[in-house]
Amino acid sequence: MAECGVCFRHCHIADGQTGFCGGRTARNGTVEALNYGKITSLALDPIEKKPLRRFFPGSMILSVGSFGCNLRCPFCQNWGISWSEEAKRSAETAETIGPEELTELALSVRNRGNIGIAFTYNEPLIGYEFVRDTAGSAKAKGLKIVLVTNGTAELSVLEELRPYVDAMNIDLKGFTDRYYREILGGDRAQVMAFIERAVTICHVELTTLIVPDENDGEEEMRALSGWVSQMKNPDGDDVPLHISRFFPRYHMQDRDATDVRRVYRLAEIAREKLKYVYTGNC
Ligand code: SF4
Repeated sequence: MAECGVCFRHCHIADGQTGFCGGRTARNGTVEALNYGKITSLALDPIEKKPLRRFFPGSMILSVGSFGCNLRCPFCQNWGISWSEEAKRSAETAETIGPEELTELALSVRNRGNIGIAFTYNEPLIGYEFVRDTAGSAKAKGLKIVLVTNGTAELSVLEELRPYVDAMNIDLKGFTDRYYREILGGDRAQVMAFIERAVTICHVELTTLIVPDENDGEEEMRALSGWVSQMKNPDGDDVPLHISRFFPRYHMQDRDATDVRRVYRLAEIAREKLKYVYTGNC
């Protein structure tokens, strides 16, 4: 058995088996990324779609995803590559691409407004070695590196990526331990520690998806935005917060989409403490 130290789960993995996320395995007693260079999704997206609103607005970014996830959000929009039987199959059909090749691809679309590479769609940090290696090559060519993450990786992983990352959008999916533990299979304390460290490294924006009857209380938003307001980005400015609307998906189809008035009300509350609050999916 080998212990994986990449995220809060610390899986013990037998040779040939995979960890909880499906993206890591053990070989000869050593844990390695099974999804290294395995690409399931590739698109040139507007940076605002990540979402990042205060980092090179108006630019495009080459966005790549692999497979696997260490959370179990029942409403996942990307379940086909995150956690499902389909995700396991996508692992078998994913295309392999090396760090240099991905860098060249990103450079080739510079004339279409591309500023760099965003690691997104599935949880990129369960395969952080590919992020690190690609970022090393891409940064040397002047490209920007963006991560879209659930923020549950260990701080040692973040530290290893410190020299390379220019911006992150990190999910702060709610502000109660119950929601993180029981609904998402996550760990709120780990996410908070990750965010606190991330704002010392690069530009950070946060995203909260408002799910009816789960994390849509006004007091919860007051507490969440109050906590966010204590941090600053490296440029000394406020950390932007994206508040977005839930739609019934995947295993959570027992409720309607979030009422847009609810999203706007919670955004209003967040604006009492924060300078940059954006609503999404409304
Ligand atoms: S990254 Fe994957 S294998 Fe490693 S501890 Fe987390 S869930 Fe387990």
